Amino acid sequence: MHVYEKRRDIVFSVATLLIEGKTIGFVPTMGALHNGHLALVNRAIKENDTVVVSIFVNPTQFNNSEDLVNYPRTLESDVELLSKLSTNIIVFVPTPKEVYGEEMMSKNYDFEGLENEMEGKFRPGHFNGVGTVLKHLFDIVSPTRAYFGEKDFQQLQIVKKLAEIENMSVQIIGCPIFREDNGLALSSRNKRLNKKQLQASPLIYKILKQVKKDFGTKSVLEMNEWVSEQFKNDEILELEYFEIAKISDLKSIKEKQKDTKYRAFIAVFAGKIRLIDNIALN
Ligand code: AMP
Repeated sequence: MHVYEKRRDIVFSVATLLIEGKTIGFVPTMGALHNGHLALVNRAIKENDTVVVSIFVNPTQFNNSEDLVNYPRTLESDVELLSKLSTNIIVFVPTPKEVYGEEMMSKNYDFEGLENEMEGKFRPGHFNGVGTVLKHLFDIVSPTRAYFGEKDFQQLQIVKKLAEIENMSVQIIGCPIFREDNGLALSSRNKRLNKKQLQASPLIYKILKQVKKDFGTKSVLEMNEWVSEQFKNDEILELEYFEIAKISDLKSIKEKQKDTKYRAFIAVFAGKIRLIDNIALN
């Protein structure tokens, strides 16, 4: 396994592989790896000759500087976890300068409105940061396929749009959400939850599952009200948003329509730690 910090080293290594006709699977991460990340890496290993995993806490996608400072960083154990999966993994651990050059700036993207919904509303500039860093990383890694979790479903849709806008030949592949046995979606931020918050957080998925059950028989308004009600007296979890939205444009709906695919999306605060989750409804 190789761990590269320099852009030129990984570009050289990747160029050699591409000349040999090898396929490259890419899993971009911000580190603090958990089994959700590893599921993506395992899928990439199965489907490609070589896998590149980037570990880079991207400053431009954080709208909250405290969140950026407190984001868990566990590089040593991340590298060890990856080394157990395959010897054929290249880990890219760049500094901001290696990714961005001298000017760490986000490009302004028009993702045809996808960027204005949900996470886009509550995290201004977030998707410009995501789009910009991924454009840089894709240019460096030249992946055949890139793997993203449905945990960040809005991000997944935006990355597909990014590949279209930037005319990139990479195939974007979505992977299912990996959960704890109690239903809590794995997230690097879970490492920051205290015991009480950890005990309370499985409620998020319980609620999503109930919404999925009720989806055929209840109105959108009823479901929205029911979800708000569940958090009203909760001492640990605070609801930021709950929306039922069309998969195609991620716009939230007031009424269901025939032959349309929907997902429910939720963002919740446990203290200062922000947790997101979603579920397919039909
Ligand atoms: P992050 O390190 O949080 O930026 O995540 C890197 C990639 O892993 C993204 O594509 C995420 O959607 C994906 N991911 C994070 N958590 C999970 C999970 N619980 N299940 C599946 N994919 C995940």
